[in-house]
Amino acid sequence: MSSDSQPENTPRPSRTEAEQAVRTLLRWAGDNPAREGLHDTPSRVVRAYEEFFEGYNTNPHTLLERTFSEVEGYDEIVLLRDIRFESHCEHHLAPIIGRAHVAYLPKKRVVGISKLARVVDAYARRLQIQERLTAQIANTINDVLEPQGVAVIIESAHECMTTRGVHRPGVSMVTSTMLGVFRENTNTRQELLAMLNRPSACGV
Ligand SMILES: [Zn+2]
Repeated sequence: MSSDSQPENTPRPSRTEAEQAVRTLLRWAGDNPAREGLHDTPSRVVRAYEEFFEGYNTNPHTLLERTFSEVEGYDEIVLLRDIRFESHCEHHLAPIIGRAHVAYLPKKRVVGISKLARVVDAYARRLQIQERLTAQIANTINDVLEPQGVAVIIESAHECMTTRGVHRPGVSMVTSTMLGVFRENTNTRQELLAMLNRPSACGV
């Protein structure tokens, strides 16, 4: 269990308690949880929460443990672009929908690229702020793969900004964490940015 999960002295509430909490919020919204259309809503919301927040059940470090060392001397940037993710802001429980670009410069080991996307999901499917999400993905790859450098760039829309509060649709937030050579070496960082801006050649 990571440090983000529940402290041991506060046991997880039961499903019935969670459903009851949803009924309370429905009443708070001004509706009647007993009416027919809302009858199954608490159980649906609780199941949706299991999906939205399943990242708490995944240890992102173990996702990266299986690596490949026979890379024929490959020592250039590996970049996975446009990893779509869904997260929820920890301040309003509102969706954050975005794309992550994850790059690393291997030292001696590479990892299956699907694992990079799974690390993004493992952290996205928790209550988040975008700055921490970005740093957690980068730090995990850095800790486990020990590459020459890691770069994570995230662009996303926060529904807590578009549907409430200041009501600003169309605004995207961009965050980045650069570690190792991506932080220290301007040329490496420029090379990454050029790769990011290049149109895709595979039709995606
Ligand atoms: Zn928010």
